[in-house]
Amino acid sequence: MQKTPFSLYQQEAPSLRFSPKQGPGYLYDVLILGGGFSGISAALEAAKAGLTVAVIEGFEIGNGGSGRNGGHLLPDWPTDFSKLAKHLTPEEADAAFAIGMDTVALAKKRIAEYDIACDLKLGYVHCAYHDGHVRDLEDMQRDYEARGISGLTYLADKHALQTHLGTEAYVAGLYEEGAGHINPLKYLQGLAKAAAAEGADIFQNQLVEDITISQNEAPHELHCQTGDRFLGRHLLICGNGYIQKKAPKKMQRTLANVTSSILATEPLSDNLIKTLMPTGVAAADGNTALNYYRIDAQGRMIFGGRASYLIPDDPAVIGTDLRRRMLSVFPELETVETAHIWSGRIGITASRVPEFGTLGRGCYFVQGFSGHGVALSGMAGKILADHITETSDAFQTLTKIRHLPFPGGPLRTPILALGMAYYKLRDKLRL
Ligand SMILES: Cc1cc2nc3c(=O)[nH]c(=O)nc-3n(C[C@H](O)[C@H](O)[C@H](O)COP(=O)(O)OP(=O)(O)OC[C@H]3O[C@@H](n4cnc5c(N)ncnc54)[C@H](O)[C@@H]3O)c2cc1C
Repeated sequence: MQKTPFSLYQQEAPSLRFSPKQGPGYLYDVLILGGGFSGISAALEAAKAGLTVAVIEGFEIGNGGSGRNGGHLLPDWPTDFSKLAKHLTPEEADAAFAIGMDTVALAKKRIAEYDIACDLKLGYVHCAYHDGHVRDLEDMQRDYEARGISGLTYLADKHALQTHLGTEAYVAGLYEEGAGHINPLKYLQGLAKAAAAEGADIFQNQLVEDITISQNEAPHELHCQTGDRFLGRHLLICGNGYIQKKAPKKMQRTLANVTSSILATEPLSDNLIKTLMPTGVAAADGNTALNYYRIDAQGRMIFGGRASYLIPDDPAVIGTDLRRRMLSVFPELETVETAHIWSGRIGITASRVPEFGTLGRGCYFVQGFSGHGVALSGMAGKILADHITETSDAFQTLTKIRHLPFPGGPLRTPILALGMAYYKLRDKLRL
C-alpha cells in the first residue's frame, strides 16, 4: 500500500504520538488492523470495557477515508433501507433502522464526552436537480416520519431553498436538522486520544504485510513490514478501502474501491458566505456521482465530487473538473482560488450496505460504508467491540445481510467503470 497525498485536514493537523504500554509479542485481548473511525471506535469501546487493545495502523491515524472525507455527518444507512430489511425479520429490521438513526447521536455523545473540538455544525440540505430526485426526497421524508423521526422540512421550490443555499441549481430540497458536518480528522484524532486514555495501545507506521487468522486456540497474528509481530485473542480487520490485496480473499470478493476527490478554496469573505450558504449547512445532491459540499470553520468551500473506478487522474484534471462542478452550483466562486485538492478511496459493496462478517474464531471485519461512513463507521466499530464483550446482538443481526461478490479477475475494473459510466449518463439525462 502506497502512502497517498495528504488531505487538507492532514496537512493542518498535528501528528499524534502515543506511548503504548505493551508491544509486539504481547498477547492482546483485541488486536485491530486500521486506525480509521471503525478501528479506533472499536478500540475505544473495547478498552472502556477493560480489555487490552492494540490498534495497528500502517501510516498515521487518519491515513484512510476517515482523514480525507467530506466531513458530512449523516445518520442512516448509505442506501434505500429496504435493501437491508429484506434480509431481516421485522423486529431485526426495526433494530437495524434504529442503529442507523443512532449513529449521529453516538458521534455527538462522544464529541461532548471527550470534549473533541472538531467544528461540529448541524443542519443539512439534500438537494433535488429534477423530479426524480424530488420523488426520492418525498420517499425519504415519508419513511422517516412513518418511523417517528422528525426534524425534516421540505423546501418545495427555489425560494424556500434560498434560506440555506444561494443557488439556482436545484428545484427543491429537504432540510434535515439532525445531520451536519465536522472536521473529520479532528474528530478521529480526538477519538484516538480518548481510546489511548482508556488504555488502548496505538501503533502507527506499522504496515501489516501478512495476517494469520487462527482457527484454534492459538492467537491471531499481524506481521508488519518492520518485522514486528502483534498477537491477539480477537482480531478486528478494519482496513476498509485501504487494505486491498492484504485483506483475506473473502473480504476482497465483496468490496470494490471508488476514488472520490475534494477541492478546498481559499477562505471566502463573510459577504460571500452569507450569500452562498447563510445558515452554515452542508449539502449534497441526489445524483449517483453526487456533489457534496460545505463551508468549513475557516470559511473555505470544501467541495467534493467525482467518482471513478479507474486510477486517479492527475491533480490538474481533478481540479478542473471539481471547479466546473462547483461553479455550476455557485458561479460566484469564479474568482476564488483553489487552495488544495485531494482524493480518497471509498470502499463500496454491491448493495451499498456495509458488510459485517466473521473470518474465523474471534476474527471479525466490517467494510464498505459506500461513501456514508463518517457517523456509521463509528457505530460499526462499537458494534464489533460490543460483539466481543457480548453486550449487544447487533453484529449477529447485521451478518445476516448477504453480500454479492463483484466480478473477479482483470475484468473487474473495466466492468465497474462501465457501470459507473451508465449511472453518470443517467445523472446527465436526469432519470
Ligand atoms: C473523498 C472521500 C469523501 C468522503 N466523504 C464522506 C462524507 O462526507 N460523509 C460520510 O459519511 N462518508 C464519507 N466518506 C466515507 C468515509 O470517510 C468512510 O466510510 C469512513 O472513513 C470509513 O472508515 P474506516 O475506519 O472503515 O476506514 P478508513 O478510514 O479507510 O481506515 C482504514 C485504515 O486502515 C489502514 N490500513 C489499511 N491497510 C493496512 C495495512 N495493511 N496495515 C496497516 N494499516 C492498514 C489505513 O491506513 C487506514 O488508516 C468519504 C470517503 C472519501 C474517501
